[in-house]
Amino acid sequence: MTARIIDGKAIAGEIRSELALQVKQLVKEGRRPGLAVVLVGDNPASEVYVRMKKRACEEIGVYSVVHSLPAEITQEKLLDLIDELNQDPKIHGMLVQLPLPSGLDESAVISRISPEKDVDGFHPLNVGRLWIGGEGFVPCTPAGVLELVQRAEVPISGKKVVVVGRSNIVGKPVISLFLRENATVTVCHSRTENLAEECAQADILIVAVGRPHLVKKDWVKPGAVVIDVGINRVDGKLVGDVDFENVSQVAALITPVPGGVGPMTIAMLLKATVDAAARS
Ligand code: NAD
Repeated sequence: MTARIIDGKAIAGEIRSELALQVKQLVKEGRRPGLAVVLVGDNPASEVYVRMKKRACEEIGVYSVVHSLPAEITQEKLLDLIDELNQDPKIHGMLVQLPLPSGLDESAVISRISPEKDVDGFHPLNVGRLWIGGEGFVPCTPAGVLELVQRAEVPISGKKVVVVGRSNIVGKPVISLFLRENATVTVCHSRTENLAEECAQADILIVAVGRPHLVKKDWVKPGAVVIDVGINRVDGKLVGDVDFENVSQVAALITPVPGGVGPMTIAMLLKATVDAAARS
């Protein structure tokens, strides 16, 4: 058996086209969606992500502004900028690119963002809303994972979903999203005993660890759906957490790295911004 590939790049492209139409309509109504990105310091990976986000906004007609601040900025000044953006009617979504340089209090900064503009879904209120089933922003990568599975028309309700990884930005929100879709969810992490056996139970296996080729062919049930969130650089090449070549011989559906979950993150960020403008 050879798995069918879930083409995240193509699906993200479809979403961006759908959003571009929605933005056109909102602009006609005088409600152009706006995204503010705050970048502190000069982390090269963060700079790349921020540039990609800005370009993606421009492509679909979303207004975007990047505030680049020096690493030495005080906590107070950073919070003042967030207060300003919270009040700015042109801005419907805002995010502070993480990680922040040392000396700045990440959780205080995130908590200062208005929950109604928190497109990354990291504010404690939105984290809580996700768990108790309320309306709110959902972290973009986990939202992209669910969207990929749904657009591939994979049934979720009642299915066994195994999530490997329990970080606040990927693993935990993935758990709550799939629970909300009525999956039977198991969470595995660095202390899990018999990880291979746990994974082999999954109808849908979602891996977000950051270890190249951790998941082997014999960890995957024949016919399972495998979603690889991992991004690792090995010998200058990007690879996921799943041994793609061998696992795709047993899985029914699988996401590649790159071109799987990755492109969905920005698509879901755009969607969150456009939705926020539509609600405004
Ligand atoms: P993290 O380091 O915060 O968390 C990793 C998780 O993996 C932890 O919960 C840990 O318990 C678990 N873990 C570590 N070693 C393990 C092992 N040997 N067996 C089982 N579990 C183990 O990482 P993160 O921020 O959640 O990111 C995970 C991966 O996803 C990374 O490769 C990251 O680059 C990638 N990522 C991709 C996107 C995207 O596609 N847009 C977004 C965010 C993160």
